[in-house]
Amino acid sequence: MDCGRLGDMATLYAHIPDSLHAALNSYAKDRRVKLTAATVELLETGLDAVANATTRVALEERVAVATEQAAEARALAEQAEKARAALEATLNGQTEAYALVGGRLNQPIGRCPSCRHPISGRDLVVRNACGSCSAPLSALLDPRTPAAGSGLNTTEYLLLIGALGLLVGMAMAQSKKS
Ligand SMILES: [Zn+2]
Repeated sequence: MDCGRLGDMATLYAHIPDSLHAALNSYAKDRRVKLTAATVELLETGLDAVANATTRVALEERVAVATEQAAEARALAEQAEKARAALEATLNGQTEAYALVGGRLNQPIGRCPSCRHPISGRDLVVRNACGSCSAPLSALLDPRTPAAGSGLNTTEYLLLIGALGLLVGMAMAQSKKS
């Protein structure tokens, strides 16, 4: 910042403590500049410092929020993986996995954020729209806003995702074999 030297000048009248006035005078004397020049310089330095501190705080806040969101998404992914592993341990074949996914898809999993009509796993992951009012449900799949007003049953959701993950895993293993 270099305001006030070449541009328009304004006058600032300020009552300041004697001690500050004395300090300003000695600062100006040390630097061999006029009191006004010293005051302008110190004010500019002060304003820059405040602006930088504000920017830093804003950046720090943004980083903190992003870190928290990443941690939440990671926790959800870990839970889905655990659910998948637990299901895998109890199932013997693809037929059972399909039946399981079919059952999961028909389970009520929460409510439509728009019309409050109950939504099933099928509405959520297959149609991705409310069966009653056709409102899109993609916001519900965002791990950062898991149950925002939807009453989304996180356990049902994780079991469904786990079952789907299992089925996808089986299909991939099958296609590798053939
Ligand atoms: Zn709806």
